[in-house]
Amino acid sequence: MKICVLVKEVPDAAVEKRIDPSTGRMDRSGEKNLNPYDTHAIEAAMQLREGGAVQVDEIVAVTMGPESAVRALHKAVSLGADRSLHLSDGSLAGSDVGATGYALSKALAKEQPDLVLLGQQSDDGECYTIGAVVADYLQMPSLTQVIKMDVDSGALRCERQAEYGYDTVQVEFPAVIAVGDAINEPRYPSLKAIMGAKKKPLETVAAGDIGIDASRVGAEGSQVQCGDFKAPPAKAAGQIIEDEDTGETVEKIIAWLDERKLI
Ligand SMILES: Cc1cc2nc3c(=O)[nH]c(=O)nc-3n(C[C@H](O)[C@H](O)[C@H](O)COP(=O)(O)OP(=O)(O)OC[C@H]3O[C@@H](n4cnc5c(N)ncnc54)[C@H](O)[C@@H]3O)c2cc1C
Repeated sequence: MKICVLVKEVPDAAVEKRIDPSTGRMDRSGEKNLNPYDTHAIEAAMQLREGGAVQVDEIVAVTMGPESAVRALHKAVSLGADRSLHLSDGSLAGSDVGATGYALSKALAKEQPDLVLLGQQSDDGECYTIGAVVADYLQMPSLTQVIKMDVDSGALRCERQAEYGYDTVQVEFPAVIAVGDAINEPRYPSLKAIMGAKKKPLETVAAGDIGIDASRVGAEGSQVQCGDFKAPPAKAAGQIIEDEDTGETVEKIIAWLDERKLI
């Protein structure tokens, strides 16, 4: 069995999310990291391999993103993927979720996986949608929020978390499964794996190499049009009461609350 894991490079969680006023898109500059939700998908692939119920011949990390996204692929490989595929092309910049899903489905079609795993959401866009879009293009069954996965009689038995409880669903391969973050506790990469990650095979493809129709990607090929996004107004600075004397401090806090009719 071949498993492809979709991974994305996102701005580090510590970086404040900003909208670039000139493009209306998210400003993705600054420190970046592998989307934390995707580490659960890699771990799920590793556990399927180690579980032994099915023979996993290959785990391939797949991303679409600029040159810098190779770092996310190196991290994915250090966590257990055998090799990676990087779809990178200037024409893909500005793709919305439909166009991104279309482009990723083309990269996946090249790989012909038996199973596609991905995170429940990206830490930047948070659309929770890529799995469904990719599955639709690939005409594969798709499940979201999967928190348990077992191979049973050649099919995949999944438990998915829903608002009302849990669904148990059996799907045939090939399938696209978005895993919830409750599915596992991702392992930490070993120092040896981190050092060896750059030596693992990494293939870079451009849009034309995998038959992506240029009219269906990028800002022009996207159906979502960004409106007039603005950063929220800056909050007024809070008032810090610096006082060692407890009685006086309490009086100041009560006066402050009273002034605002909060007590
Ligand atoms: C008009 C518009 C313009 C945009 N322009 C850009 C742009 O120029 N550059 C840019 O980076 N983003 C851009 N985006 C955002 C981009 O479209 C989203 O990243 C994409 O739609 C995926 O949505 P999401 O990240 O919220 O994915 P979700 O559906 O929340 O992600 C679920 C999972 O899908 C997988 N996944 C998501 N994206 C990728 C990816 N690229 N590669 C591999 N796996 C992935 C991951 O496993 C992730 O955990 C734009 C969005 C819009 C609406």
